[in-house]
Amino acid sequence: MAGLAHVLGWFKKPVDYRRPRILMYHMISPHRPGAQFNKLRVPPNQFEQQLAWLKENGWHFYTMRELQALAPNFPEKGVALTFDDGFEDNYTHALPIMQKYGAKGTLYLVIDRHNNDWSTKKKAHHDSGELMREPKLSDAQVAALLDSGLFELGGHTFSHANLATIDTTQKAHEIAASRAYLERTYKTSVTSFAYPFGIYSERDPELVAQAGFLNAVTTVEGVDDKPSDRWYELKRVKISGKDNLSTFCKRIRFGNKK
Ligand SMILES: [Zn+2]
Repeated sequence: MAGLAHVLGWFKKPVDYRRPRILMYHMISPHRPGAQFNKLRVPPNQFEQQLAWLKENGWHFYTMRELQALAPNFPEKGVALTFDDGFEDNYTHALPIMQKYGAKGTLYLVIDRHNNDWSTKKKAHHDSGELMREPKLSDAQVAALLDSGLFELGGHTFSHANLATIDTTQKAHEIAASRAYLERTYKTSVTSFAYPFGIYSERDPELVAQAGFLNAVTTVEGVDDKPSDRWYELKRVKISGKDNLSTFCKRIRFGNKK
């Protein structure tokens, strides 16, 4: 039966290509031996293979803002690369590869990203400090990403807040004030948001909208049926550092690797 399932897999229809794929990345870097978060590290050579495959197979790259501007009639094979948090390798490793393929992306930047062990805000036992020690983008590197013309800057709160655990005053700071801070600091319009850890309460999408963001991504895995009805709770396709190219292609076709 396993053989049959495999054969049937070839006939499984991909998700409608007019439904854009929003890909979630964190680091573009070699794996660290024995590290806990290597699935968040896509090695640069694999990232390059992925972009080469997308380009060869007719996919078009958009930032989140550009994608939203196309709604509701999305062209076929639209893809938005998104990068969470603001790791330095987005500049040192991802940018040169993206320039080579003309690929665009959206960076969801944590403002207080240096020496901040946010992993513990999700799970107290995630206190290894692994992600805290990982170098983050300097302000000059963020500016260089924006100057490349390939990046849109998006909000990801000041502190990588766990929105489910803070009060309304703190939420106003983390959501609305962080947007104003990013616009002021980097002299750019900021209209896209990502919920830290993908965690949020029922009313948070409304707060995000009131703060002036026009769209927000979650960590719910998949491809939205009607993104225009879900601008503040968009699904994403998770890209794992442990995927080979064929698994990556499966995720692009179906929204997940099943
Ligand atoms: Zn994050």
